[in-house]
Amino acid sequence: MLALLLWLSTATAIAAPPPLHVLIDPGHGGKDNGTTRSATRESEITLAVSLRLYELLRRDRSFKVTLTRSEDRHLNLAQRARLAREAKPDVFLSIHVNSNPDARAKGAEFYFQNQLPPDEESMFLAHRENDMGDSEKETRTYAFVAKNKYPAEVSSIVSDLLDSDRILRSSELSRALKTNWRSRQNKSNTIRQAPFFVLSQLHTPSALVELGFLTNNEDFAQLTQNSVHAKMAEDLYRGLLQYRESITNTGHALR
Ligand SMILES: [Zn+2]
Repeated sequence: MLALLLWLSTATAIAAPPPLHVLIDPGHGGKDNGTTRSATRESEITLAVSLRLYELLRRDRSFKVTLTRSEDRHLNLAQRARLAREAKPDVFLSIHVNSNPDARAKGAEFYFQNQLPPDEESMFLAHRENDMGDSEKETRTYAFVAKNKYPAEVSSIVSDLLDSDRILRSSELSRALKTNWRSRQNKSNTIRQAPFFVLSQLHTPSALVELGFLTNNEDFAQLTQNSVHAKMAEDLYRGLLQYRESITNTGHALR
């Protein structure tokens, strides 16, 4: 009997997939506050939510988790990219807070990197800006992201065109995160594609979450509450659980 139990436990241990390594990247930090509203800084919100998510993942043995920063310190984008390359995570999750000149813009946004060559990318953005149809709001967001929000984060550097598996997984990741997002449930929770400097440096499935808009009064009230930070971290955790399940079920071998 003991032998059988030993065999079973060994078999289970072999069958269990390796932990999914998540590298959490709390946006900004140190002298880089990110977006601000009165005394509230994006950099402190991203860190607060990231640390809570870190704790949730740390307690779950099906994950391995690391942070690009665990305190209020400055990291430039190249340093973040280097940390990510060195850590070799299975998932890179960057956490940010949005702002918009239009105070009505609200809700979370989930980005994954698209995979167009630099020329195509600028054409794509130009196209979006010129598109006056239904997607005017979306167009504004693209233009905003491209020109104002991320002068450095959005970059024309786009990597390997053949890396379609990563794009597929990144899109699955964004979808799983969005599906499980309850913290500020409204119609404006969207998934967008955008080139991000840090993400474009990696051959790792990655997503960037904008938790909400500091410039929106309702979002602002939420984003400054510890209890909401906890809820947001739980939502992201559930999204990561779903992502983990999806790549296991669809036969995507974990690295
Ligand atoms: Zn940011």
